[in-house]
Amino acid sequence: MNQAKIIDGLAVSKALREEVARRARVLKAKGTTPGLAVILVGDDPASAVYVRNKVKACEQNGLSSNLERLPADVREAQLLARIEELNADPNIHGILVQLPLPRHINSHNVIETISASKDVDGFHVANAGSLMTGMPQFRPCTPYGVMKMLEAYQIAITGKNAVVIGRSNIVGKPMALLLLEAGATVTVCHSKTADLAYHTRNADIVVAAVGKRNILTGDMVKPCATIIDVGMNKTDEGKLCGDVDFASVSKVAGYVTPVPGGVGPMTITMLLVNTLESAERSAHPGPDDVALVHSEAVKA
Ligand code: NAP
Repeated sequence: MNQAKIIDGLAVSKALREEVARRARVLKAKGTTPGLAVILVGDDPASAVYVRNKVKACEQNGLSSNLERLPADVREAQLLARIEELNADPNIHGILVQLPLPRHINSHNVIETISASKDVDGFHVANAGSLMTGMPQFRPCTPYGVMKMLEAYQIAITGKNAVVIGRSNIVGKPMALLLLEAGATVTVCHSKTADLAYHTRNADIVVAAVGKRNILTGDMVKPCATIIDVGMNKTDEGKLCGDVDFASVSKVAGYVTPVPGGVGPMTITMLLVNTLESAERSAHPGPDDVALVHSEAVKA
């Protein structure tokens, strides 16, 4: 019986983080410590866990990070003023405002206030536009992580059919653009798609980014396809699970990502990569420093 190979996000992540740490040491020796500023507004427990993990990952890999907590009732103008200060701070190379924000704050205003050159989440319209025109500065972390996983397992993209399920600005749309840029023929499915299985059965690569359990089952998958599960959901027992029915899909697919241990670890890793690369750009690096993390091998 077929058993899909597991794409191990922890292993890919570990290798990339070691590389980030090495390059951070090189930069530090030249007088620049890559710095990430993280702003958390309010006391949402899930957001608190996410930012803690991001700060911890920075510290473990040679980046400096400062976490600023602002009260849930902070005025939007105050938050924007703080972002402007960070934009002007030469020791800060990346600024991340944890989403979602309280309802009285317009997250679009917040994202657009972050300098595009420090927007390590890649959400600013200037960065979305750069991605659209094939000259990305910061790629959004989750889809960038997916591309690195495909690259690490040497999964061919050029000329392949790829289906992205989900069309959010932070995952689905940039994912589709990155796959398109790498030479795939891309179909984007969403909640209005009439027959999801019709599309997925013809796909060599499926990326599921929906937020609903079992949106993709084995009968919807082409034999030997690569299945990337971005979703983060809970089982009835409260355990983390993805969008993909792992048991049935792994009997048909060639490669599959698990949840946990798949895309999740890659998202924070790519935040480190984006922050490091921002610091390298600001320090005007020599040619030796730019070659590795930013490999263009996905286009091969
Ligand atoms: P989102 O903004 O809620 O978008 C979900 C997308 O799924 C929408 O485009 C929606 O279509 C589509 N959708 C909903 N029901 C569908 C259905 N029955 N069939 C096909 N498409 C359907 O979510 P998101 O921010 O992109 O995140 C998606 C998932 O990834 C969530 O579980 C999130 O927690 C997870 N996530 C994980 C990571 C990670 O690091 N692993 C990072 C980010 C997000 P419409 O546009 O038509 O509504």
